[in-house]
Amino acid sequence: MKKFLSWILFLTLLLCNTPICLGEGEESNESNGSVIVIEESSEENQQITEEIFEESEPYYPDNIERIIGPDDRIRVKDPYVYPYSAIAYMDVHASCGCSWSCTGFMVNKDRLLTAAHCLVCTDHGQWADKISFYFGWRGRGYSYKYAGKWTAWVGNTYRNGTTDFAYDWGCVRLASNVGETTGWFGTRWSMSDSKYTSTWVYVAGYRGADLTYDQGYIDYVTDDNIYYQMDQISGNSGGPIFDWEYYAVGIINGANLRDNVVTTHVGHRLTSKIKQHLDDLSF
Ligand SMILES: [Zn+2]
Repeated sequence: MKKFLSWILFLTLLLCNTPICLGEGEESNESNGSVIVIEESSEENQQITEEIFEESEPYYPDNIERIIGPDDRIRVKDPYVYPYSAIAYMDVHASCGCSWSCTGFMVNKDRLLTAAHCLVCTDHGQWADKISFYFGWRGRGYSYKYAGKWTAWVGNTYRNGTTDFAYDWGCVRLASNVGETTGWFGTRWSMSDSKYTSTWVYVAGYRGADLTYDQGYIDYVTDDNIYYQMDQISGNSGGPIFDWEYYAVGIINGANLRDNVVTTHVGHRLTSKIKQHLDDLSF
């Protein structure tokens, strides 16, 4: 079994920043949220396979500037401008004393999408219990910070201690209408395979104070995942994959490796299963 686990880890690369572990007790801040793992057997999954296309519109506040079509810069110099204003740099802590950074993005006034593995300590299997969400992060400043209560629902990607990108999604409900300040992405749920591979997309995520993105076409899709060559680096996990109309179509997961070389980047589709959990979230 141990050999199997290391094989899995060798073949996949998670894109949250490497956890920094302070040791138990050294993280004194109180927790502000909790993670609920959605247990899904493969049989149950197969019962929810009827995908019905739906979408919801993006939103940006009147007082936030908006770019006219995504520009061609790689580093986003104005992360407080919509749609980047709706992307969060997440400073995540777990009860084991570890912390790491990830990305998430608003899709409604109080709901954010991210990757499941952004909400777990990869060294100790402990779920996140404290997160600060920074929007419009640049240098040492940010345009908005949310450190209030949250609850997250995640796919059981860390079941048995292994990573499975098929479950690498997380829905977070915030106890405040953060999106009214930051704006949010529209969402396209249950897009067809051909729509995925014919849509020009942008993948964006934070690494430290840098919000970057790349753009291109998706190479191919499976039932749950999206595969592409656009660059993404550690810390980008949980970031949005979106189209030129600011509709999110996926979540950044990680990469597949062969001989330590990235062969493809991996994202998660916006499936009706995720939408169902997102709609049902309540404290
Ligand atoms: Zn830990």
